[in-house]
Amino acid sequence: PHATKFKVHPIEPCIQRVISLLDSESGRLGHQIHFNADPQPFHMMMDQDKMLQLLLNLIKNAFEAMTDQGSVSIHLYSSDKNAVIEIADTGSGIPGTELDKIFLPFYTTKDSGTGLGLSICHKIVQDHEGTMEVESELDKGTKFIITVPLVFPDE
Ligand code: ADP
Ligand code: MG
Repeated sequence: PHATKFKVHPIEPCIQRVISLLDSESGRLGHQIHFNADPQPFHMMMDQDKMLQLLLNLIKNAFEAMTDQGSVSIHLYSSDKNAVIEIADTGSGIPGTELDKIFLPFYTTKDSGTGLGLSICHKIVQDHEGTMEVESELDKGTKFIITVPLVFPDE
């Protein structure tokens, strides 16, 4: 069912790559990115460019939601036969009444936002046969939870 750009890849290096791509921007904004992963490697069927785009979009949104020096915590672990990637920020949070709208194309609360980022993210996750959920608390922060099927290349 996967198009040819999908190959088995380890997930951790992809996350590390995004963090290093954002290194100078994080420094400039005074934000920190923390990453922790379970020790064993996790693999998934991945379109690498799309996966990078997904993570970049989510972390950029997190940066934009944090005014003073904030932190983004990324956690990679497994649950059953799935990999779970959680991206949590210490930003503004999203009001409960808005939560079901954020994945709609063109929904934005920013002066110069397109509102397309999360709808693209949602599509990318679906193309990877995964799901994405969001939890948020106003003035505390927001957490995106991505779940994708694991691949076990050695079995
Ligand atoms: P844009 O970033 O162009 O506004 P997105 O689709 O990326 O469009 O996000 C849609 C809206 O969802 C944002 O305008 C913002 O209101 C909300 N949002 C997304 N991510 C976060 C986040 N991490 N914290 C708070 N609000 C968020
Ligand atoms: Mg965005």
